[in-house]
Amino acid sequence: MEIFKTKEALKAYLKPLKASGKKVALVPTMGALHNGHISLIKLAQENADIIICSIFVNPTQFTDPKDLEKYPRPIEHDLAMLNDAGCNGVFMPNVAEMYPSGADENWHIDLGKAEFLLEGEFRKGHYQGVTQIVKKLFDAVEPDVAMFGQKDFQQVLMIKNMLAHFKLPIKIITCPIIREDDGLAMSSRNIHLSETDRKNALVLSKSLQFVADNFASYSLNELEKQAKSFYHNVEGVELDYFTIANGDTLEPSKSKDESNLVALVAAKVGNTRLIDNMIIK
Ligand code: AMP
Repeated sequence: MEIFKTKEALKAYLKPLKASGKKVALVPTMGALHNGHISLIKLAQENADIIICSIFVNPTQFTDPKDLEKYPRPIEHDLAMLNDAGCNGVFMPNVAEMYPSGADENWHIDLGKAEFLLEGEFRKGHYQGVTQIVKKLFDAVEPDVAMFGQKDFQQVLMIKNMLAHFKLPIKIITCPIIREDDGLAMSSRNIHLSETDRKNALVLSKSLQFVADNFASYSLNELEKQAKSFYHNVEGVELDYFTIANGDTLEPSKSKDESNLVALVAAKVGNTRLIDNMIIK
């Protein structure tokens, strides 16, 4: 497995491969890898010949400096996991490589109304930072396909909007959420959960599963009300939002007849903010 710290070295590696007709996939990550990330690598291998994983903790998408500071960075462990998974190359630039004129460089694109809903409401400017770095990674790799997890449902929408904005010819593949055996969605942030937090965190997947399992039995209002009631008696868990939304607009769903419905949740568990979602139909 090759390791690249500069765009130049990465491009030099990819150039002859692309010239010989190899299809390239990019898997962007912030490191602290788990089996969710590895599932993206595996799916990438089914869709391309050369897999590049990027590891970059992007400062412009963090709204809380403490969150950025405490973001886990177990790089040796990450490289070992990627090597075992058969990843071809890892792009791990430093901040100066991605932001040569400083991380406060100007960036603003129209991502549509959904930018300001849900995560966008709680993390102002987050999706500008996400699309800014993903555009830079796309420019560095110029992949045929790029893999993103459904775990960050709103992020996939925003990336697709960014792609349309720049008319980039990249295929986006959305990968299913990988969960622990008890249902907790895998996340790099789970490492911060205490033993009690870890148990309490199950309320997220349980409340989503409740909606999926009982969709036929209740009205949308009642489903949401009952799902929210899961959080009433869990100490140390603070719900930011629980919504059943239209999967294209992220606006609260108005009718069970809509074709694309997703339940989305964000909650603080102890000091750790977690997100999860389930596609209902
Ligand atoms: P991150 O390193 O958290 O920025 O995540 C990198 C990519 O992995 C994103 O596209 C995420 O949506 C995806 N991802 C994170 N957690 C999971 C999971 N549990 N299952 C599948 N994909 C995931």
